[in-house]
Amino acid sequence: MSVPSPAFPPERDADVLVVGAGPAGLHAAFYAAWRGLSVTLLDARHEPGGQLTALYPDRRVYDVPGLPAAPAADVIAGLVRQLDGLNVQWHLHTLARTLEPDGEGWRVGATTPDGPRTFRAGAVILAAGLGALLPREARVPGADTHPDVRTDVPDAAELAGRHVLVVGGVPQATRAALELAQAGAQVTLTHRRAGFRGSPADLGALEDAGRSGQLKLLAPATLTTLTPTSASLTVDGQPHDVKADTVLILNGYLPDLTPVQGWPLDWQGEYVPDGVGSRTALPGVFVAGDLAASGQDFKLISVGLAQAAVAANHAAHHVRPDLRVRPGHSSEKRLS
Ligand SMILES: Cc1cc2nc3c(=O)[nH]c(=O)nc-3n(C[C@H](O)[C@H](O)[C@H](O)COP(=O)(O)OP(=O)(O)OC[C@H]3O[C@@H](n4cnc5c(N)ncnc54)[C@H](O)[C@@H]3O)c2cc1C
Repeated sequence: MSVPSPAFPPERDADVLVVGAGPAGLHAAFYAAWRGLSVTLLDARHEPGGQLTALYPDRRVYDVPGLPAAPAADVIAGLVRQLDGLNVQWHLHTLARTLEPDGEGWRVGATTPDGPRTFRAGAVILAAGLGALLPREARVPGADTHPDVRTDVPDAAELAGRHVLVVGGVPQATRAALELAQAGAQVTLTHRRAGFRGSPADLGALEDAGRSGQLKLLAPATLTTLTPTSASLTVDGQPHDVKADTVLILNGYLPDLTPVQGWPLDWQGEYVPDGVGSRTALPGVFVAGDLAASGQDFKLISVGLAQAAVAANHAAHHVRPDLRVRPGHSSEKRLS
């Protein structure tokens, strides 16, 4: 669908680069791609969804238009599904750090699992929300001597056959434990409090798996120390050791805005001022979602989605001046 732009050099990675795959970034990516542009979408996390999948995947959201009482994860699944068939390249585990002019476009420097990488685009939409949602650090005695302590959700198949200790009460810990057990890992799930969090379906599956012995549940329990192959816990005041080839510490995510706060966008604290068309102080750089100053106290999904539509359509016109800003009605168009 992408048509080469007369205004920007062909060696760029995409017409539009979106930083952040939360609801605002996903919808911005949709709209820019829907207008026929190529889009690169970056997120520091291993999955899209921003705050919804990182901080409250197990809760229902009541105020997204047209999706009454939708689980947060379903809101994101719909936004992701809307990108099907569109020219959007995903780069997860990718943290945007620098922004530099690149002719009439922009160069964004990022760290990726394969090392540093530069992305070139005609326009940038910054939808970084509260900041990069990075896993909380693991603070367990012995963690530095254990060969395989992780703080992010792994590919379950990679750990099949291993003894895996999953530590944490967040929904991601419950889900990871279930997926790892299904993939053939010997899983122990532990948390310092009595209960685990998760969707009703995941909590039901966890109870079944615990009862059938498919995985072991230890809660409330305190993880006291790690050795290179095992973990020592205290359960009901008694010492309890489990084998642990891999230790997965899932304590949730903390937002970090600092990677983009050096970008010269006239920051107002944690906000980027946005003018007409969601423009920032830099030509060709747009902002949407929680980060945009115009939203003020309305840090809401619905507000971010609207800002994303405005930003993406102005970005489309910026990159391809032959495209009108106004997109027209999607109901009058077909993708193919
Ligand atoms: C507990 C809780 C409940 C909520 N409930 C509701 C509700 O019921 N209704 C509602 O409307 N709103 C709710 N909200 C608010 C809503 O989640 C936010 O308004 C929304 O997520 C903002 O979307 P966003 O895309 O702007 O940012 P985010 O969701 O924060 O997504 C930003 C994304 O950008 C990524 N990112 C940031 N910096 C970088 C970087 N440098 N490089 C790469 N990636 C980066 C982050 O990792 C993240 O994935 C709730 C929020 C919380 C915390």
